[in-house]
Amino acid sequence: MGLEKFINVNQTEEYFNSPYGKPSRLDERLWIPPMGDSRVRLLPQPVENSVPYLVVQRHSYNYQDQILWAICPKTIGQKCPICDVAWTFYYATPETYGSKAAYLNNLGAGLRPITRFYFNVLIVSDPENPENEGEVKVLSMGRKLWNIVQQGWKDIGLAIFDPENGYDLIIRKRQMGQFPDYTTSSFARQASNVGKIEDLLERAYVLTDLITVYSDSELIEMFSVIPEFREFYEGKSETPTPKVVKGKMPEIKVPAEVETEPEDVGTFLPGVDSSEVAEPTSESETKGQESDTTLDVSDIDDILSNLDV
Ligand SMILES: [Zn+2]
Repeated sequence: MGLEKFINVNQTEEYFNSPYGKPSRLDERLWIPPMGDSRVRLLPQPVENSVPYLVVQRHSYNYQDQILWAICPKTIGQKCPICDVAWTFYYATPETYGSKAAYLNNLGAGLRPITRFYFNVLIVSDPENPENEGEVKVLSMGRKLWNIVQQGWKDIGLAIFDPENGYDLIIRKRQMGQFPDYTTSSFARQASNVGKIEDLLERAYVLTDLITVYSDSELIEMFSVIPEFREFYEGKSETPTPKVVKGKMPEIKVPAEVETEPEDVGTFLPGVDSSEVAEPTSESETKGQESDTTLDVSDIDDILSNLDV
């Protein structure tokens, strides 16, 4: 019996050579629109009586070039230890945190969850990777593209999800500064038939299947590479005391083009757009909304899709 029949040697080699025992590339079920124009047909979930998309909260942060990435447990209605740190730091004041407060505010802003919207799509046109055409994948979109789909639902209705007599979503991805911009995307003017609904639904995903939620302790361990995050849980039972910070503060990277809309930005750097940041949910998290500096963590799908480590 040939072992090679059961073990993909090249892929296994790649896994063993990866820092975490697994290449940290994008989930293969996800599809990233190429720069330029591409077309998809949105599809329902293969679940009766369901909403055809899933709202996902996600944490992503780049700490010293290390990618920290996790689905926020609030996506499935659970408490989240990262959110607890994010919002505590985000609203840290000099009274309790001394001269470190401003740094913690930035760190907290970067750790906040961002909102993504998962849709099943049939890829109709992908000029960059034509082999994707005809594939059913999951498109993770930011709020700006979701707003276009939302408008399509208002204007066209169910037919935006109809493969047999419906409308393609034409995705126009442009580079705006360091961020991709999707704002000129639209639905096709002509309805078309791209396949039988039963066939396509067989290949569509139950969107919650793409969600892996780690336990609190796993999440805390993952993000504890950030010293301040680690200290938060080490000293959890104690009242935070003002800290005297000596020497140079660690730098937090904030992009210059803060006015650009980070829709699906290929960077981890905090940008400035509150629209993608999930709203705080508990009472303690909502205080100080008026002083919201609207820092945002950028999306990392593009980066992950290009990683080959
Ligand atoms: Zn969270």
